[in-house]
Amino acid sequence: MSKNITGYTKLYAVLGSPIKHSKSPEMYNYTFEKNGDDSVYVAFDVKEDSIGKAFDTFKQLEGFTGGNITMPNKTAAFEYSDELTEEARLIGAVNTFKIEKGKIIGHNTDGKGFTKDLKAHDFDLEGKKAVIVGAGGAATSITVQALLEGLAELSLFNKTFSKGQKLVDKLSAHFPNQIITAYDLANTELFKKEVQDADLLINATNVGMQPNIEHSIVTDLSIFHKNLYVADIIYEPNETKLLKDAKEAGVACAINGLGMLFYQGVEAYEYFTGKQMPVEDIKKKVYGYEKKDYS
Ligand code: NAP
Repeated sequence: MSKNITGYTKLYAVLGSPIKHSKSPEMYNYTFEKNGDDSVYVAFDVKEDSIGKAFDTFKQLEGFTGGNITMPNKTAAFEYSDELTEEARLIGAVNTFKIEKGKIIGHNTDGKGFTKDLKAHDFDLEGKKAVIVGAGGAATSITVQALLEGLAELSLFNKTFSKGQKLVDKLSAHFPNQIITAYDLANTELFKKEVQDADLLINATNVGMQPNIEHSIVTDLSIFHKNLYVADIIYEPNETKLLKDAKEAGVACAINGLGMLFYQGVEAYEYFTGKQMPVEDIKKKVYGYEKKDYS
């Protein structure tokens, strides 16, 4: 790629550690080129304890416009942002930022990435019931966004019940009119009952991820039903045991985590540039996948 960088060119960056594997520079630079943006995007290896110093420096540099935050820096970026969007405040973590009038504005697009991918699979959360397994960072982003988008009922199962209950208490305080309940993942009878009654089952744990691909959060395959959407946010492997079992049982749709990863980046671009990303083009060009690979 050759690019004409001038004194007007804006700078964006992703901050994480490790960071060399990140696809973000390729995705955003390709998009800048396609959309005719006079901007460049780079990756910086920044550790958690240096986020505050990095933000202080960026605020001094005119032309530094925004970027993304990845592991392990999302909580530190939340702490050092000058202002927060509603999503970032409710989630308690920042994965996207922009700099306006010398202030870092922290945002979070992880949950929106998930719900946008659901929409791409013709699933609307409004008025629906979901069962989610997990209570970590990803589960927090997804549940906050799903409730913001009108999910009517949420049943949250976690291995460590107290952590699940803590998240449910926080969510219930912000969404008092939606039904939100914590359960112990060890209670298999209740898990079966809740999934049989749900429209959507989400795996937001590490269960089934490389190298432990023979594991699944579902051991009793009779819980799957033909109207159920099953979403596993893991993307390595592309098809987890959960998704394979769900497809074989004839569920309505089985979705992996590639779409969430992709759409959180799309949302971030729209947030810090105010423009649309050429979605289908980027999917094929940068991620090398089409819809058939992730549904
Ligand atoms: P996290 O904050 O560490 O949370 C991990 C969650 O998994 C916790 O709820 C934990 O339960 C649960 N868990 C771990 N081992 C388990 C087991 N053996 N049985 C049942 N539950 C178990 O991690 P995270 O950031 O939320 O990430 C979770 C998963 O999402 C990872 O696989 C990650 O790759 C994936 N992810 C995907 C995307 C995407 O864009 N597609 C984005 C972020 C994360 P306890 O609370 O009981 O420990």
